[in-house]
Amino acid sequence: MPTAFDLIVIGAGPGGYVAAIKAAQLGLTVACIEREAALGGTCLRIGCIPSKVLLESSEKFAEAKGDFARHGIKLGAVELDLPAMLRRKDTVVTTLTKGVEGLFKKNKVTRFAGHGRLAGPGQVIVESKDGMIELSAKHILIATGSKPAPLKGVELDGDRIGTSTEALCYPEVPKQLVVIGAGYIGLELSSVWSRLGAKVTVLEFLPRILPGMDSELAAEAQKIFTKQGLEFRLGARVTAAKTTKKGCRVEIEGAEPVECDRVLLAVGRVPNTDNLGLDTSGLALDEKGRIPVDDHFATQASGVFALGDVIRGPMLAHKAEEEGIACVERLVTGYGHVDYNTIPGVVYTHPEIASVGRSEDQLKDEKAEYRKGVFPFMGSGRARSLGQTEGRVKVLADAKTDRVLGVHIIGPRAGDLIAEAAAAMAFGASSEDIARVCHAHPTLAESLKEAALAVTGQAIHV
Ligand code: NAD
Repeated sequence: MPTAFDLIVIGAGPGGYVAAIKAAQLGLTVACIEREAALGGTCLRIGCIPSKVLLESSEKFAEAKGDFARHGIKLGAVELDLPAMLRRKDTVVTTLTKGVEGLFKKNKVTRFAGHGRLAGPGQVIVESKDGMIELSAKHILIATGSKPAPLKGVELDGDRIGTSTEALCYPEVPKQLVVIGAGYIGLELSSVWSRLGAKVTVLEFLPRILPGMDSELAAEAQKIFTKQGLEFRLGARVTAAKTTKKGCRVEIEGAEPVECDRVLLAVGRVPNTDNLGLDTSGLALDEKGRIPVDDHFATQASGVFALGDVIRGPMLAHKAEEEGIACVERLVTGYGHVDYNTIPGVVYTHPEIASVGRSEDQLKDEKAEYRKGVFPFMGSGRARSLGQTEGRVKVLADAKTDRVLGVHIIGPRAGDLIAEAAAAMAFGASSEDIARVCHAHPTLAESLKEAALAVTGQAIHV
């Protein structure tokens, strides 16, 4: 096996594996080091993908229990087969992680199994189960991702008190689940277990859910999720969680403790930088434990680059992928760019919540002059036929130039609908540009057109 490469990538998550494949496609010799047996990182193994599988399955279960009857479909007794549901999730994960292995072979990316760390300029060591392997490269890319943030006083036991990793494979539906944190992970996994029958209480430190997302949408989401059965306790600062003889106890500042049988800690994620040998290349972390990089992902050490969750910016798989492509393109062609203004964010609850660009709160803070167009899904023929009329599309555009500054959607398939808004914004579209594009009827996408029309008071169906 060769030990000298043009590029060594440490970490095979969406940032690392995409960068490795792209670099190989551009003609570089590439190695990728990954310590987990399966490729694909948190996203494929214990994050985006398994959570989406369980969201889909649990939604079908909820529909079968109640929603089908509204469509005139009568079912007999609906029963949950949790082991089968979890097996399906594992099968999807295995298929996709094996798929990355196949892509590595096809593109001639050399895979090393073990923990990778820097060992001085141009040098990397792989700590593998068969001993140390010394590698060298012109360029080194750190794409080691992130791990769940701990919370002082919360004693993770890898079982009853756990993170998203445990919550993707509870062996039985908890009777009472306490979720700490009403962010992306907290809300998605609360939805899964609540649909499967758990009584879920979400404890959130802030006075709102989904911090960072448009607050109008977040407030609407909270109402919808409350109707679905989630209990929210806002302004609740968790100070401790411990296992007891009967289950778990969660302590909240200034309030009675909550007893439950499982606890999910979802208060954010922190970069993975343990034992990376950063000091051997003179690298230090910033105040949030991230690796500082310039606009082109270069660290302060010559030839060493970093991207994804381990650097600044949102911790999103697709952001890491874009960075992987841009970083490698720049190495090879001298040009590579990520448009951080058009990175969408999606919460895959039901309904989904999706955003791109500035939130209305940000525009207000910036004292920007903007116009706002809103279209409720109640006015959409397609949403009516789906029986999913909750939510709305909101388009925010510059008051003078009409350039679209942000689009925020809560409603059916919002995560897919946001792609059109992101594409429009990437091309510098005005709300009129979106409004003048012919949208197929009847589709949910027409709601974006209508919201764009509403920016200038011209919506037809509301
Ligand atoms: P998050 O930052 O989205 O939310 C964490 C929440 O925990 C915040 O609302 C915060 O106020 C709250 N919190 C913090 N300390 C608390 C305390 N002591 N008591 C109660 N609440 C407290 O973090 P997350 O949901 O853990 O997600 C981590 C990362 O993973 C995010 O950056 C997200 O981008 C990413 N992610 C994305 C997706 C997606 O794209 N669909 C899904 C899952 C995760």
